[in-house]
Amino acid sequence: MKKVMLVTGASRGIGASVALMAGLRGYRVAINYVKDQVSANKVVQAIEAAGGEAIAIQADVGDFKAAEGMFKAVDRKWGRLDVLVNNAGMLANFRVEDVTDENVSQIFRTNVFSTYFCSREAVRRMSTKHGGAGGVIVNLSSVAARLGGLGGGSGYAATKAAISTFTLALAKEVGHEGIRVNAVSPGLIETEIHNVHGGIAHMQELAKTAVPMGRHGSADEVAEAILWLASDASSYVDGVVLDVSGGR
Ligand code: NDP
Repeated sequence: MKKVMLVTGASRGIGASVALMAGLRGYRVAINYVKDQVSANKVVQAIEAAGGEAIAIQADVGDFKAAEGMFKAVDRKWGRLDVLVNNAGMLANFRVEDVTDENVSQIFRTNVFSTYFCSREAVRRMSTKHGGAGGVIVNLSSVAARLGGLGGGSGYAATKAAISTFTLALAKEVGHEGIRVNAVSPGLIETEIHNVHGGIAHMQELAKTAVPMGRHGSADEVAEAILWLASDASSYVDGVVLDVSGGR
């Protein structure tokens, strides 16, 4: 039986790389997006063209009901869930003295609440306590959790620290129920997320001096680590936050 992986925020960037790699390696893949249906459908088509199976599911994962609906769509399509990748996320650029209610609630809802909502639904389906067959959850933290992020990135850094700690706590909670929970902590990775912080060219320049390896990373380099954590090759790895950051 083919394993089913749900990747949140998989229309572009790291999520799209994870989804495509998983589809090419034999997973059935559910590709979540919030706005960009065209790009999400392109990822589905690329998987199907290679003989794989995928569906695109629109849902704002920071909205509890929408996240729940997304899992029900996976149930209807394949009737099982083996891997959840909590990848959807946003970066923000605001100084604390200027912060608004909307700034803080949007970034915590998108990055942290989504991780809770989706993990809850995944545990209900995977946990042996609930009759499931076990599974794997991989969260997306960031080196910002320990470095404090770029200027104006306090909100983002705080959400990623919450995700790192949540990863350790959830691993303890469900380790006896057949579920492994880990996170990757990427450094400077070439995706559109950097458009709120000076753009990709600025990030590439920064990486030359800020990263010990002297370069930024690619979405595929992060996806490889996520696919490893999702696989049985990492069967005794649990509660870990794995840096994928070129030594930064
Ligand atoms: P991108 O901006 O390239 O892609 C973000 C993805 O998330 C898109 O598919 C977007 O969908 C989706 N998304 C955003 N908000 C929601 C939502 N509310 N519900 C569902 N989907 C949503 O980001 P990256 O690929 O760079 O980032 C992926 C993850 O990796 C994030 O959690 C990020 O914090 C983390 N990360 C990235 C780093 C980097 O340098 N790139 C470094 C460290 C961590 P749509 O296209 O429909 O808008």
